[in-house]
Amino acid sequence: MSNKFIPLSVPNLKGRELDYVANAIKAEWVSTSGPYVDEFEARVAEYVGSKGAVSCQNGTSGLHVALLSCGVTKDDEVIVPTLTFIAAVNPVKYIGAEPIFMDCDDSLTIDVDKLKEFCEVECKFLDGKLINSKTNKCIKAIVVVHVFGNMADMEGIMEVAQRYNLKVIEDATEAIGTYYLSGKYNGKYAGTIGDVGVYSFNGNKIITTGGGGMIVSNDEKILNKSKHITTQAKIDELYYIHDEIGYNYRMTNLQAALGLAQLEQLENFIQIKKENYEYYREKISDINGLSILGFKNSIRPNYWFYALFVDKSYLLNRDQIIKYLASEKIQTRPIWGLISDQKPYAGSQTYKIEKARLYLEHVVNIPCSSNLTKEDIDFVIECLKRPEVI
Ligand SMILES: *Cc1c(COP(=O)(O)O)cnc(C)c1O
Repeated sequence: MSNKFIPLSVPNLKGRELDYVANAIKAEWVSTSGPYVDEFEARVAEYVGSKGAVSCQNGTSGLHVALLSCGVTKDDEVIVPTLTFIAAVNPVKYIGAEPIFMDCDDSLTIDVDKLKEFCEVECKFLDGKLINSKTNKCIKAIVVVHVFGNMADMEGIMEVAQRYNLKVIEDATEAIGTYYLSGKYNGKYAGTIGDVGVYSFNGNKIITTGGGGMIVSNDEKILNKSKHITTQAKIDELYYIHDEIGYNYRMTNLQAALGLAQLEQLENFIQIKKENYEYYREKISDINGLSILGFKNSIRPNYWFYALFVDKSYLLNRDQIIKYLASEKIQTRPIWGLISDQKPYAGSQTYKIEKARLYLEHVVNIPCSSNLTKEDIDFVIECLKRPEVI
């Protein structure tokens, strides 16, 4: 019986990371400029097929910049999902704007039918602006999250956005590598369909730079604006003249060196994660009361996170499974607490939150790192086959 710790999601750094980081150090280019930063930006843009890419310190800062680049101001409101990591929503508040929380559908991403209904029933469309009837404020944008590497219904979302003149910010922090296999956006990558997309290279994501992020867009204006405000909004290099409030959000050359080596392995990581996902899914389908949630058929997902659905018919509930697996040194976690339930958002507007709560109560994320061994996976499955109340 295995007795080693099996983490949920950890970095896999067996490519050229050490070489590239050593190169950056030997060249004494370690800060927020350098050839690796430019190259990493170019390679990410090339990989996802966007016009350009702007590096940043992490996904959170990227989302902050994405909102600013789309013109969101303190007087606006932004539609966001409630089932997500809080970093998808906090940047709305950094700007002083207000979030409106939406439910998810069975893909765990934003429910487009409810989104449409909200816009039709709860808002007015006046002079090209979507006005929230409750607050009389303008709804400027939607933040879409591609949860766990799945793809939100971008066709539906873009239709709503076009009808109501909304900007679309794709939080693709978990979904680099996910793309459509059919439909209107066939071949398009998560993050490249809306006005602007953001990736994260945090340590638990599919590829990592320790901490880091990337903003992508096909709109030159958004790219230029993003670059400008991630680099202190400086318009004169010599005399230090600034034309607005900027941020020190640019990635360092050390981070980018790591990122470049990681990007070289991304397709390989996705292949490994796909095989592990399919193996888990098949074996777990034999266990009464448990299943692994699927990804959409219309996409090639990046298989970032695996979501175990724990039905009432299983001996253990969500919290008991987490505790039991922890006693076997297997790290798991529930989905994030709903953002509309969190203290800073207690007074925020919500619209028919139902499914998010159901999935929150029934889903457990199980180990999914690209360096999991077959023995690790077999051990997790074996534990799930003989549940114990701890
Ligand atoms: C990881 C993540 C972020 C933030 O990325 P960081 O790089 O950790 O700042 C934002 N949204 C979602 C959905 C995430 O999973």
